[in-house]
Amino acid sequence: MQNKCFFCGERVKIPNLPINNKVLCEKCAIKLMDFMAVDGKNDLEKDNENILNEIPTPSQMKKELDKYIIGQEYAKKIVSVGVYNHYKRVKYSTSEILEKSNILLYGPTGVGKTLIAVTLAKILHVPFSISDATSLTEAGYVGEDVENILLRLIIAANGDKKKAEMGIVYIDEIDKIGNKNADNPSITRDVSGEGVQQALLKILEGTVANIPPQGGRKHPEQKYTQLNTKNILFIAGGAFNGLEEIIMRRTGKKNIGFNGNNEKKTKEMFKKARPRDFVHYGLIPEFVGRMHVFAPLSELKKDELKRILTEPENAILKQYKELLKIDGVELNFKDDCIDFIAEEAIKMKTGARGLRTLLENYMNDLMFELPDNKRVRKVTINRKSFEKGNKPVIEEE
Ligand code: ADP
Repeated sequence: MQNKCFFCGERVKIPNLPINNKVLCEKCAIKLMDFMAVDGKNDLEKDNENILNEIPTPSQMKKELDKYIIGQEYAKKIVSVGVYNHYKRVKYSTSEILEKSNILLYGPTGVGKTLIAVTLAKILHVPFSISDATSLTEAGYVGEDVENILLRLIIAANGDKKKAEMGIVYIDEIDKIGNKNADNPSITRDVSGEGVQQALLKILEGTVANIPPQGGRKHPEQKYTQLNTKNILFIAGGAFNGLEEIIMRRTGKKNIGFNGNNEKKTKEMFKKARPRDFVHYGLIPEFVGRMHVFAPLSELKKDELKRILTEPENAILKQYKELLKIDGVELNFKDDCIDFIAEEAIKMKTGARGLRTLLENYMNDLMFELPDNKRVRKVTINRKSFEKGNKPVIEEE
């Protein structure tokens, strides 16, 4: 048991011990660290009553989201209202009229879907867990049981089930478990994903789930931990590439060629998705029926990518500046360099993820060499040096 990840049950060669001396595999440890990194330590000190008494209004929630998430105004607004309604329902749970409001975030990769979910959990001081839909399988197949999603939430709540029952669960890559994969046969896995969707229905709707405490697969002799999912907010996310075509077919609009104007129209289309478009895409109607808020996210424009580099409280450039400041070095990025990084990231088509990749490549060399020269006081990176991978302008004392 010692060598298994407490989160996912995978065998662990080198254990990470970030919380309560639990053995974690590297993948789970990184995800947990990412969550904590949004705003320092995860503040789970508040009890459930306090959380419910302090639910921010939708506009307050959006204002908080604005501190971390650049652009995506439309999605942030819809999500703020959805989350507010969800916790209002939890607070006045005697009312049967109010339905559970799970959220579906759809849009290209790297544009802030996961970040919105993580940030909401931070704002609300509730535990958060993230799972990949493609790693899940229906009972009886090789892979993860859907209940492991909930086990992660319990761990994020430091074992406090009452807190976990008020948490937020993010299920990524939900578009990859659609029916359309059915023509991709496999003997060991339920590749069609329909079985996984079926398995998710109960926990999405609200049930008392039986969770194998050690993760991994269920087996009859195991003792189960029970968790009520009635008040857990589920947020599903996916890219849904090609959804526009389904919407166009429904609305009878044709996509003629690919000139700029049409591309813009296609993007506008994406925002007009109806629940049945997701059914055509491959999600089963029962699954779509359990999602009540549909929030579209759009590709990030150059200006937004530049702002992501510099504005959020934990912006990437601020992080590098901070790292070098500790060594007594002042780091500056010239505007033309920031322009260049944003332009290159657009070409990579991985949203804001490209920004980090580009910077890491360049900064690694710099951070490798700088500590050897104690006299360096100021480093200025301009477009020319970044573009060519040359040394920046270095000022010594
Ligand atoms: P996805 O949409 O694929 O879930 P993520 O939310 O995981 O993408 O984004 C990947 C990384 O890119 C985040 O950790 C964050 O640093 C950055 N990022 C993406 N979108 C935004 C945004 N709109 N505002 C600020 N940072 C963003």
